[in-house]
Amino acid sequence: MKYPQALQKLIDSFQMFPGIGPKTAERLAFFTFLKLKDEDVAQFAKNLVGVKSDIKRCSNCGALTDQDVCEICKDPNREPKLIVVESSKNVIAFEKTKMHNGKYHVLNGLISPLKGISPDEINFRSLLNRIQNENIQEIIIATNATIEGEMTALYIKKALASTQAKVSRIGYGLPAGGDIEYADEITLIKALEGRKEM
Ligand SMILES: [Zn+2]
Repeated sequence: MKYPQALQKLIDSFQMFPGIGPKTAERLAFFTFLKLKDEDVAQFAKNLVGVKSDIKRCSNCGALTDQDVCEICKDPNREPKLIVVESSKNVIAFEKTKMHNGKYHVLNGLISPLKGISPDEINFRSLLNRIQNENIQEIIIATNATIEGEMTALYIKKALASTQAKVSRIGYGLPAGGDIEYADEITLIKALEGRKEM
């Protein structure tokens, strides 16, 4: 016996998400039908659509936002100091530490010759303009301690050699290969405090 079409379609949809296999997708689909209220399902569907229609990348720093320029870039009280990160998730992690009162630059990727990702395919060129336009004094490179993260950090360091900004790399209390996304706040604070000039 096969599942009715609508149920099978929902199972297939859940399976598109990372980490969700056939059994979990089946469980989620059953739960949706058996346990969720109609209005909660409607809201969930709306949220899925909303995240695609309302969210974009900040035209200045590349972080996810629902405006043209994000709140952090617009904030006049932020210091002229940038933390350079791979993803918007890292911005949230550093904001939680409350240790950094500067701004961010989100690369939305890392340089990777293996995957054929060149500096022009990440949000890097605009960083050079920002140093000028926003009179940035310090750049803290906070890419992950992976091969791609280190290569990207070195590339940025070289590319910024002729600017006036001081360039540092966060210290790693994070283990080699460690991911900022999963680091706790204390580890991130230590990593920021332990940053070293490159
Ligand atoms: Zn921004």
